[in-house]
Amino acid sequence: MNKFEYLLRSIANFSTNKNCPYCGCEKSVCIDRKFLVTTLNECVNCNLYFRHPKDTIEFNQKFYQKNYEQKDNITTDLPDDNNLKKLIESNFKGTAKDYTDKIQFIRRIIDKEQPKVIDFGANWGYTSYQFKNDNWQVQSYEISQERALFGSKIGININTSLSQLVEGVDVFFNAHVIEHLPDIKNMFTLAQNLLNKDGLIVIYCPNGSDSFKKRKPMDFHRLWGQVHPNYLNDKFFKNVFKDVPFLIGSNSLDLQTINWDKKSQVVLDLSGDELFAIASIKLQNF
Ligand SMILES: [Zn+2]
Repeated sequence: MNKFEYLLRSIANFSTNKNCPYCGCEKSVCIDRKFLVTTLNECVNCNLYFRHPKDTIEFNQKFYQKNYEQKDNITTDLPDDNNLKKLIESNFKGTAKDYTDKIQFIRRIIDKEQPKVIDFGANWGYTSYQFKNDNWQVQSYEISQERALFGSKIGININTSLSQLVEGVDVFFNAHVIEHLPDIKNMFTLAQNLLNKDGLIVIYCPNGSDSFKKRKPMDFHRLWGQVHPNYLNDKFFKNVFKDVPFLIGSNSLDLQTINWDKKSQVVLDLSGDELFAIASIKLQNF
């Protein structure tokens, strides 16, 4: 799907409603604009930033089977056998998909010998592989059948049906997934059903928070659009997790220095380009 097709699709969908895709509120404020017809809007009720025109769930399902491409050589390009061998041997060290720091950080918060995790939006399994190497019990889910199939090459069984996931997990992990979703609430309720009572949802995504926008306005403008219909910010997460403990921060922080008691609501520095939100959502009413 090139930019021209995206523009045509945006024009075709221009007259569709601007209701918030999370809470359904009809009121929003335009905060950014691209190609005249696409806007980034802030819901006045839940503070989600979302693109208009929106995509349907059906479009999304089809798009991620075949058309999704990222130009970082690793997200959507499946590695050849040689490169795959190198990635495996190094446990992804030094690549854009090195999750060592994140996994160690979450392990410290969970504080269990062999925690259970669901890697939601597992792509071809590189994060699941690293969790497994760190002695986690891993279940993986990916919308794209082609990428899911590739997981077997590195010994990762990736489900493409949500009904295959088994409940009772400590962590519902999703990195760079939520910004693509046409229905965020579906993911929250799925996570809620699959987590055990002390379990945590762990979300990583591009940072739409004000302190990042002030520091890097051009990057803020670049990080929403065709493949990112949602742009997440701290206000939205504080809002949806208002009744439960949460920790919100960004990659400006050294993860290994962060301590959290899993009982309080904490917001840390938000000036980095990657936002994270961790919450104990079992008792939240979505
Ligand atoms: Zn809303």
